[in-house]
Amino acid sequence: MRLFAFTCGWLTGAMANFLAGADGRLRVPVPCFLIEHPGGWVLFDSGLHPHTQRDPAARLGFKAKLFDVEFQPGEEVAARLVALEVDPGSIRYLVNSHLHFDHTGGNASIPNAQLVVQRSEWEAGHDADLMMRNAYDAHDYDTGQGVLQVDGEHDLFGDGRVVCLPTYGHTPGHQSLRVRLDSGEVVLTADACYLRRTLEALHLPSVVHDAEQMLTSLRVLRRLRDAGARIFYGHDPEFWSSVPQAPAAVS
Ligand SMILES: [Zn+2]
Repeated sequence: MRLFAFTCGWLTGAMANFLAGADGRLRVPVPCFLIEHPGGWVLFDSGLHPHTQRDPAARLGFKAKLFDVEFQPGEEVAARLVALEVDPGSIRYLVNSHLHFDHTGGNASIPNAQLVVQRSEWEAGHDADLMMRNAYDAHDYDTGQGVLQVDGEHDLFGDGRVVCLPTYGHTPGHQSLRVRLDSGEVVLTADACYLRRTLEALHLPSVVHDAEQMLTSLRVLRRLRDAGARIFYGHDPEFWSSVPQAPAAVS
């Protein structure tokens, strides 16, 4: 089992997007993760759509006004995989934490994977009202792959090493991923927990789908942290500077 981290661009937006009420702006990484398991490759999130590199406004609409995008050719997830000598067509499972543009934009470039999402997230992604409220764009995720909709915890290979963990609240069916490396457990929180401060102070972002659910999810993450898991925050630039980038593996 190996875990690789990729930085697939950067977004800069109002600090309050990440911590309600906070001033200033914050530049955050767009992470994607690759897991090498004997049963096949797993990609956790796919970053931004490659078109975002040349014309963010055309691709993102109003969201391009909220974020400055730094995203260069070669930083898209498919290129990151190729640089690691992994064929994007060979990915077995593409696990989406949720359906936002900075987590599903590269889905189309992973053509043969089975998509793994929480049922409640997939349903929200096909409900006109919830799509609008959550700023989903079906072009990102309706990309033709088979979809495995899961309800709650889901053990991808049946051996406890790669497990989808429901962490609802940021969106209706957000999920994180627990990865059991030889060195111990890692939890890829994605947007259930943007920053270390989110977890330490239970400080929510300004926009959440369900604040109570999100707090419940953060308490679950705290319990895992207290039990020894390493928490990988979803968009924490300070934390991210400590994460080895591919081709180095997270040890
Ligand atoms: Zn995000």
